[in-house]
Amino acid sequence: MPTPLISKRAPIYADVPDEKWNDWRWQLSHRLNTVEDIEKVLNLTESERKALQTQGLFRVDVTPYFISLIDPEDANDPVRKQIIPVSEELNAFTSMMEDSLAEDRHSPVPGLVHRYPDRVLMLVTTQCASYCRYCTRSRIVGDPGQTFNRQDFEAQIDYLKRTPQVRDVLLSGGDPLVLAPKILEELLTRLREIPHIEIVRIGSRVPVFMPMRITQELCDMLAKFHPLWLNIHVNHPNEISLELAEATDRLSRVGIPLGNQSVLLAGVNDCVHMQRELVQKLTRIRVRPYYLYQCDLVEGSGHFRTPVAKGIEIIEGLRGHTSGYAVPQFIVDAPGGGGKIPVMPNYMLSMSDHKVIVRNYEGFVTTYEEPTEYKSHDPKTCKFCQSKRVEPGQTGLTGLLDGEQLFIKPEGFDELHNRDGIQHRLRDENKWKPLGIGSGETD
Ligand SMILES: *Cc1c(COP(=O)(O)O)cnc(C)c1O
Repeated sequence: MPTPLISKRAPIYADVPDEKWNDWRWQLSHRLNTVEDIEKVLNLTESERKALQTQGLFRVDVTPYFISLIDPEDANDPVRKQIIPVSEELNAFTSMMEDSLAEDRHSPVPGLVHRYPDRVLMLVTTQCASYCRYCTRSRIVGDPGQTFNRQDFEAQIDYLKRTPQVRDVLLSGGDPLVLAPKILEELLTRLREIPHIEIVRIGSRVPVFMPMRITQELCDMLAKFHPLWLNIHVNHPNEISLELAEATDRLSRVGIPLGNQSVLLAGVNDCVHMQRELVQKLTRIRVRPYYLYQCDLVEGSGHFRTPVAKGIEIIEGLRGHTSGYAVPQFIVDAPGGGGKIPVMPNYMLSMSDHKVIVRNYEGFVTTYEEPTEYKSHDPKTCKFCQSKRVEPGQTGLTGLLDGEQLFIKPEGFDELHNRDGIQHRLRDENKWKPLGIGSGETD
């Protein structure tokens, strides 16, 4: 029997009438953010007290609902660590960056990050229901003075209208679901007026911080904009309450596919067995684990970082051991704007010209005999190959495999390897030319 989901309320909220407790506006306006508030719920440690009294720290705010999930006696509670600051936040670490994903550099207009060929990240607000201590966007999030205005929004819509390769818009922030309902509806309406936008996705932690926001009315509004997808953000099984389960049920019933993105955090969820329980509990509430992220190199999150190997170990403990549906992709979001890079255990052990050697999760090693007569796929007669359109420079390894390019080289490579001053072969164009017309010869 799976453990039943429960509902919790910290003792100080025992007398709050249900209508108030279940009203998201009440939750938002009763958020806790000072030592005095938080002390009424938790026995604060010296480190927490010091951080809460530090000026200029990344914003603190917690909904009464979310703080109630914490065991007040446990200084190491995994929910607590995500939202109550500790003095280690003030420590710098090597390689720490303000904008580690180089999002600002990829923004054609403020708040729109166009990093990948066919999809954009649209930052629609800087506000959240509560603030995660390891926030990757702490450079802008939480600051009420930095929020996006009407002019930015019009510029974002304008860019999308004139950029037909964008077929997928991911709304994030901040948290799109804290926007006033009318503004959110207008935003979605304007996006849906752009014919080339096929899907809209929302990234939101509101269902986790404030599940009462996911009213039937909100779900019905969202359902007018299908196909609409939603990713939530749960890091630990303790966040999966009865209220969250009811919220995800309402979202699922109006046809919104749900995914989960977690961040791998030291002392919160860096345990294989806990992760297995988390992903199984997520699938029970019809949320499919999507990504598990390596912690970004962002200021204030040094104490949350784990070695990349920890993520590999977790995936090793999930793949094969539980439902394939429950296994997320482990992702390192490359510092410097390289984007999301999946990292996983090695299952391919070796290969020859006619077989590959692979192993499974149990360590069973087997061989797969390659076909001796594979009639190669013919791009010339394939309508998909013929109609492909890729922005120059974004073909990546696929471009190497299909013969469009012979190599990818780092910037400055030619200059470096042209030390004797003679014209270097392959200097001009990074383009494959048929053998005999100069591909391998000095020209
Ligand atoms: C994460 C992200 C996306 C979406 O990536 P998927 O792998 O498609 O989920 C798009 N744009 C930016 C800038 C992102 O950081």
